Amino acid sequence: MSHLVYIPQDIEKVGKRFLVEKGYKIKVGSDLSQKILMEEIKGCDAVLTRSTAVINREVITAAENLKVIAKYGVGLDNIDIEAATERGIYVTNTPEANANSVAEHVMALILSLSKNLSLADKELRSGNFAIRNQLFGMDLEGKTLGIIGLGRIGRILAKKASKGFDMKVIGYDPYVTASTNSELEIATDLEWVFRNSDVISLHLPLTKTTKGIIGCREFSWMKPSAYFVNASRGGVVKEADLVNALQAGEIAGAGIDVFEVEPPEKWNPLFKLDNVIVSPHNAALTKEGSIRMAVHAAMQVEQVLSG
Ligand code: NAD
Repeated sequence: MSHLVYIPQDIEKVGKRFLVEKGYKIKVGSDLSQKILMEEIKGCDAVLTRSTAVINREVITAAENLKVIAKYGVGLDNIDIEAATERGIYVTNTPEANANSVAEHVMALILSLSKNLSLADKELRSGNFAIRNQLFGMDLEGKTLGIIGLGRIGRILAKKASKGFDMKVIGYDPYVTASTNSELEIATDLEWVFRNSDVISLHLPLTKTTKGIIGCREFSWMKPSAYFVNASRGGVVKEADLVNALQAGEIAGAGIDVFEVEPPEKWNPLFKLDNVIVSPHNAALTKEGSIRMAVHAAMQVEQVLSG
């Protein structure tokens, strides 16, 4: 009997085609509520999940045949790894598939912020051409980018910012002590990085130890002219502290792709601030990145199911 792969949230055709050609049956989900996930996952051998479906202990328990949870993407924070491990279920992700897409998106956020593009666009559309004399952007050349988390995305970003935009790049990561990139200076003191950067960008995972680690203390270290960018996970930052720092002028602006609660509420205070640019957690979702994530995740399902 052929194995059944459950895909709670649809993915690119090419990933599904790969599985069908290998002889697997696929079931695309209808809703991401826990109740439906628990019903639909029953009898499935694999689940190929994006970040919105929460594959928690209850969902895993309902899946009596489950052998692999393949994440389309990097962050595993929507999967109860402990519950999966107890049952001997493999958990995989697609770390190489979207790192460049995220790093490019972060450069777009940094460029938008430093050139006030979001506000300029809004004002011009409402007839305010004179805004050109009030919105003085910031050159990136010679400025310092502080990268928190020097994994795949952080390191690609370091290269783009230094080689492409002549920025000085400093980075902090408790697990990285020596730089393999000549363009990247490693710092051992988080405060020093926050104090000396013109742009701070977060690239660390959301775990029990990183939850809420960036808050009012860290924002108070930043220069009032500095920008803050987060395309890692919303839960790493205390969002209310970020809003306070922006409102108080403690920092110049923020580029935010990820939120403490997703989807964010319509009345999220960040949406009211002109010095904030937001995107709907789509940093990884370029056409190329999405195809790579779908294919890599499908290949990992096949690797496990084919033994
Ligand atoms: P990675 O695992 O390659 O790198 C993460 C780095 O963070 C590691 O080097 C680790 O040592 C470091 N780190 C851990 N704790 C830290 C701390 N307290 N301070 C500083 N550094 C710390 O992961 P990656 O592929 O570079 O991705 C980073 C994160 O970006 C992922 O965990 C994921 O949550 C997020 N992400 C977001 C999107 C998006 O669409 N916005 C897409 C992909 C990944």
